[in-house]
Amino acid sequence: MEEFFRPGGRLSESLPEWEDRSGQYEMAVEVAAALEQRRHLVVEAGTGTGKTLAYLVPLILAGKRAVVSTGTKNLQEQLIRKDVPFLEGVLGHELRVAVMKGRRNFLCRQKLVDMQGQPSLHGLTQLSDFGRVSEWAEETATGDRSELPELRGDSKLWPRLDARRETCSGRRCGFFDDCFVTKMHQRAREADLIVVNHHLFFADLALRRDDFGSIIPNYQGVVFDEAHEIESVVGQFFGVRLSNHQVDELARDTQAAAKRGGFGSEQLVRTLNGLRAAAKAFFGLFAGVSSRETFSERVQFRRREAEKYQALLQSIEGLESHLHLIKTSSEDTGPLKSRARTLRLVLRVLLADVDEAVAREAYEHPVLSLLLEDNRGNFVYWLEKRGKGVYLQATPIQVDSILHETLFDGGGSVVLASATLAVDGSFEYVRGRLGLSASNELLTPGHFDYRRQALLYMPRNMPDPRSPDFSRRAGEEILQLLRVSKGRAFVLCTSYQQMRRLHKRVSFAIEHPCLIQGQGPNEVVLDKFRNTKNCVLFATYSFWQGVDVPGEQLSCVIVDKLPFAVPSDPVVMARIDQIRRDGGNPFREYQIPSAALALKQGFGRLIRRKTDRGVLALLDNRIVRKGYGKVFLNSLPDYAATRSLEDVEAFFDGRHYGGSGRPLKRATRQQPRRRREARLR
Ligand code: SF4
Repeated sequence: MEEFFRPGGRLSESLPEWEDRSGQYEMAVEVAAALEQRRHLVVEAGTGTGKTLAYLVPLILAGKRAVVSTGTKNLQEQLIRKDVPFLEGVLGHELRVAVMKGRRNFLCRQKLVDMQGQPSLHGLTQLSDFGRVSEWAEETATGDRSELPELRGDSKLWPRLDARRETCSGRRCGFFDDCFVTKMHQRAREADLIVVNHHLFFADLALRRDDFGSIIPNYQGVVFDEAHEIESVVGQFFGVRLSNHQVDELARDTQAAAKRGGFGSEQLVRTLNGLRAAAKAFFGLFAGVSSRETFSERVQFRRREAEKYQALLQSIEGLESHLHLIKTSSEDTGPLKSRARTLRLVLRVLLADVDEAVAREAYEHPVLSLLLEDNRGNFVYWLEKRGKGVYLQATPIQVDSILHETLFDGGGSVVLASATLAVDGSFEYVRGRLGLSASNELLTPGHFDYRRQALLYMPRNMPDPRSPDFSRRAGEEILQLLRVSKGRAFVLCTSYQQMRRLHKRVSFAIEHPCLIQGQGPNEVVLDKFRNTKNCVLFATYSFWQGVDVPGEQLSCVIVDKLPFAVPSDPVVMARIDQIRRDGGNPFREYQIPSAALALKQGFGRLIRRKTDRGVLALLDNRIVRKGYGKVFLNSLPDYAATRSLEDVEAFFDGRHYGGSGRPLKRATRQQPRRRREARLR
């Protein structure tokens, strides 16, 4: 690692802007050691450490097949387009690297041909998109839509052309050998380094439980970048969901396949109409659901609404039987039959209607089997209403045993890396949540001079955030801050209601342009913020992480309250209850640490480069009033801190603000902290 990362090393010779970053070197050494010893590693590397190279170099030098899993597709792109070519230049040879993404990112050749034969395009945009996709299909080697930036993220055409599993006939397809998804799998089998994202990784890991359908080839080491997101992604893929949209899509795809395969009939039309009507009646039973709520009385609900439940179940069974009777190539009906079967099984398991025959079938399903095997109440059943969608879901409450069995006990090294993993200097929380009992650890501060670059402002005289006067005072404080910062701010709120309230109070009283989350797709709103001088953006959790606005354009981040997870949310409530049942203290063991990590994420939006400067403001005075406030303060980087607005003014004016602005912590974490082995108590 010295040969690469130390002054005079290979990186310093190849990168004109190279700087000696001790944290980067430390991290590379630790990743190399973990891979060699086949151990796991948890590493918090502050922003600016250069963690991507710190894991890529040791992974490549280890000479074993490895996987890198990133939090987002954008980060995947950055690795493939920037970091890997750079390392190829440094090493002087090509690397065998493959990128794997979810099937919806790839073009389905079969659908493109079908659409050429029977164009059913709506409007000029779809027509011109179709022309562009057809041209591109002739020349692309990957079929990955990221090569088509001109196709909008919300394109109505792409979902009709993508290679999603539900509509793919697999080996029976005439294009199978030439299919972009088949080729992606081939490249991955031949690669030494495979770059995936967390969604694909955990979707695959769920399938891997049964050794069935997994697509990521076996590997000896895996690095999770943005590892703080793992718990929620695991919850999604090791749980199940049933929605009215899934039923409608099955009906729509069956109708399209019948038209294409020539197996349409009056009886099929009647079956599909019956299915749609039954789904409408059944999901209509949840019209009164406000957003997310627990669905624990499943048996009572099923008995009470037996008629509508049975009608939906029988309609799905009717479609399954109809598809089985069709005498046509199974290439058209195979995926539909399997979707109908899965819907039937998920419906019966979610509604607690499992007899011996259903259990036998459900045990073949990698995730449904987890639900059936669950005898310690580790799943929470809940409902969600979003727009026109109604979702019935089962989510694991704790993912520790799942990850212990499927990931950490799998033989290879696992590296968890992020800028936000440690709470109050310890990894105990994240290791406990994820089921990582033994690992090496490294906590290294970022490469930035936080004391000089950032000032944390906690205003005096704010009322308790639960008091009725809080919004009014928060609005006043925000106005003063925006006056001093000249806009250029994110106001990050912990709820939509609060975001709207504060936006309403503030936007009329300032001259700076104001944006609010929801007035367009998030990327569009963010682009507008980047390109509008002195702009202010009011947002909620979607903007707390993964958002990068370097430079002066973002000079102030204001957070309204400590970001405690909403205790009435069914998944949060289930986690709290479970910790309490196990004799623990949910506030101390779960709510405080998860909020401390969220606050660190939100504040992390401010300082993205060595030249960035700005103010972080927290309007929630519990951070100084309550004993637990120390956990939050000790988890943050070493910002200078103040309670005086004059210091904020002086900071923005470039004047000395030494009066009350003092380091948040004294003489802490200046050196990376390393522990070779840590065991969870
Ligand atoms: S194999 Fe599946 S995804 Fe690929 S072209 Fe054929 S139908 Fe489309």
